[in-house]
Amino acid sequence: MIFTIDVEDWTQSVLNNKNPVTDRVLHNTLRVLDMLDEHGHKATFFILGNVAKKHPKLIRIIAEAGHEVASHGFHHDSIFTLSKEQILEDVSSSVKLLEDTSGQKVLGYRAPDFSIRESLFEWYCEALVSNGLRYDSSLFPMKVFKYGIEKRYSLDIFDKHGINEHYLSYMKFGEQKLPFFGGGYFRLMPYSMTKKLTSQLDSTSAVFYMHPYEVDTDELAYVKSTGQKIPLKWRLSQFIGRDTVEQKIHKLMSDFEFNSFANEYYLEGATSVAQHTLSNIEEGSVVTPQPEVAYEKVSG
Ligand SMILES: [Zn+2]
Repeated sequence: MIFTIDVEDWTQSVLNNKNPVTDRVLHNTLRVLDMLDEHGHKATFFILGNVAKKHPKLIRIIAEAGHEVASHGFHHDSIFTLSKEQILEDVSSSVKLLEDTSGQKVLGYRAPDFSIRESLFEWYCEALVSNGLRYDSSLFPMKVFKYGIEKRYSLDIFDKHGINEHYLSYMKFGEQKLPFFGGGYFRLMPYSMTKKLTSQLDSTSAVFYMHPYEVDTDELAYVKSTGQKIPLKWRLSQFIGRDTVEQKIHKLMSDFEFNSFANEYYLEGATSVAQHTLSNIEEGSVVTPQPEVAYEKVSG
């Protein structure tokens, strides 16, 4: 399975994108690195450019520990709010800074808040290709509270540009798709349930995601101390369950094997073939991703 971390500072990326990046993202990411180290897993870190700018040493620590440095854009702007030129600038500036800082070639991108839309695929793929990227992991294939898309989009444009799509995992009950493998879903679900569902995912292509701030149990008090107001819906959706995350991550890392996209699919010695991957659970039964018309293997 693939372990991914979207490295961003909550008060900047969620509360107010005009806020400065704080040191909390540094300390929280170091805690996640310690957990990965303890269990011997590698991961893909989708990092915001503004975090790399503020904490370049953190990026070097991630790279030197053998993890993958990938891009999460620069300021956490939703892709659908940007023009063609701004999308290119967002991808290019973040990739260049991450490569210069880490010494690693950046191969992948995840749009902030999974904010890619079908109408933007052409501009988006052009921006990824022109920066030498190989894959995307931004399609959250179900509509939920804050993000996601409802239908399975045709990936013809991705194929044309040679970009692989690694979807976020979900379970399916009847026609209803439900996410569970990361973020708030992971925070709120009892671990026994997460484990049961995870054991039915494809052990190679399933994609787990988290944010470093999810292990930060002091952040609510910190934000209150700065006098900033937090809407009630965010107090509920963004903070409940944070005190359970570290323990659950340890259990998840003990029960399952994780790797980075780069190690699994793209670097020399990779054991799996890169293609569009969708690892989901259909009505509680085990589903091996089958290539469909829209998910055919991409060469190169
Ligand atoms: Zn994000």
